[in-house]
Amino acid sequence: MDFDDTVDEAAWRAEVRSFLERHADEQREDPRAWQATLYDAGFVGVTWPVEAGGRGGTPMQQAIVDQEMDRLGLPRLINLIGIGMCGPTVIMHGSDRQKERYLRRLLRADDLWCQLFSEPSAGSDLAALRTRAVRGADGDWRIDGQKVWTTLAHLADYGILLTRTDPDVPKHRGLTMFVVDLKAPGVTVRPLRQMNGEAHFNEVFFDDVVVPDAERLGEAGDGWRVALTTLMSERLSLGGGGTSIGPKPETVARHVAEHLGALSADRQVLARQQLGRGYVAALGARYTGYRQLSKLSRGELPGPEASAGKLSGTRSARDLADLAVRVLGADARVAATRDGDDTWQTVQAVLPGMAIAGGSDQVLRNIIGERVLGLPAEPRADKGVTFRESLNEL
Ligand SMILES: Cc1cc2nc3c(=O)[nH]c(=O)nc-3n(C[C@H](O)[C@H](O)[C@H](O)COP(=O)(O)OP(=O)(O)OC[C@H]3O[C@@H](n4cnc5c(N)ncnc54)[C@H](O)[C@@H]3O)c2cc1C
Repeated sequence: MDFDDTVDEAAWRAEVRSFLERHADEQREDPRAWQATLYDAGFVGVTWPVEAGGRGGTPMQQAIVDQEMDRLGLPRLINLIGIGMCGPTVIMHGSDRQKERYLRRLLRADDLWCQLFSEPSAGSDLAALRTRAVRGADGDWRIDGQKVWTTLAHLADYGILLTRTDPDVPKHRGLTMFVVDLKAPGVTVRPLRQMNGEAHFNEVFFDDVVVPDAERLGEAGDGWRVALTTLMSERLSLGGGGTSIGPKPETVARHVAEHLGALSADRQVLARQQLGRGYVAALGARYTGYRQLSKLSRGELPGPEASAGKLSGTRSARDLADLAVRVLGADARVAATRDGDDTWQTVQAVLPGMAIAGGSDQVLRNIIGERVLGLPAEPRADKGVTFRESLNEL
């Protein structure tokens, strides 16, 4: 499946659009089969190296696929976390055997993946995590601890798991990453119910779970560096390339316009003002995504603008969904954002989570404050002390 990079962008867009328009209905059947269909057509993992099962294409070509999916209102792929975060981490730090075994199946959604990082007392401060991995005399590792908010774990076959392997060094230095089999003995997955009534994420418990050393990703003790690959990939995959977080501003505008006539004149003015504010912020996020894309296309890595794009995209999506729910009134409980999709009310209930996942708004503001505005860094009480000592100070 070699990629011909002489194909120009307009021809590529036409090819993607024509395929998606012909096959769009199939996405309703089975999300795994839909991803496999797109993979077999060459539209999943466009930028991944050919030897990893990808097409060796450009970020612009991948962005065109994302934009065309967005244009038709098609949902994100089921293995989004695998493609956006776990796969790039395996490509960068995995052994040849791991790449061979996992990557192509991940792109086809033959296996689903999740990211096992956050814990009850380690979210924004991820390096404070406590799940232990201890190496036995046989060379295998034994895992004990708990993860939380793990998206897709209830469906996943594998996950990338960040653990503490040495508590006697400063917290960022004693971590190690593994690929873990979610069906292994000792793994318990408990779904968590969200306020929209669905259960997309989970608690995951590890009780003496055995992981072979061959499933380590990177060196023992080098897990923080491996995790940075995942976190950078995560920020790029959220709202990058000019696709929308939440409903498209054009869709909100259309639905609001259709219902505006039912409002009093002064409420119409307020609704118009809120629409204007949300729409402009959404376009700001979209064009920030395009800037990231230009940098990626030049082979550079986006800097703090990835944080600014996510912050602005989340804010505008929440404002626009709130507006739609207020203008639609009781209709918001039944009216879908698009054919066969979630109602406006469900979307409104999901979006606050986006302001937490992948870096909370406050943490992103810290990044912008420190790295863009040059403000002093936050004081860190645990600097220079070992993880064990920092626990004693709690
Ligand atoms: C929808 C969703 C999906 C998720 N999926 C996954 C997943 O698949 N895998 C996974 O590992 N995790 C996942 N998470 C977890 C997510 O990464 C964490 O929720 C996030 O890192 C925040 O951590 P926390 O919830 O522990 O909150 P905390 O870090 O405890 O933060 C609590 C509050 O304090 C604020 N705060 C924290 N530190 C600072 C600071 N230094 N300065 C200012 N304010 C601060 C935060 O902004 C927040 O308002 C998901 C979360 C959500 C909402």
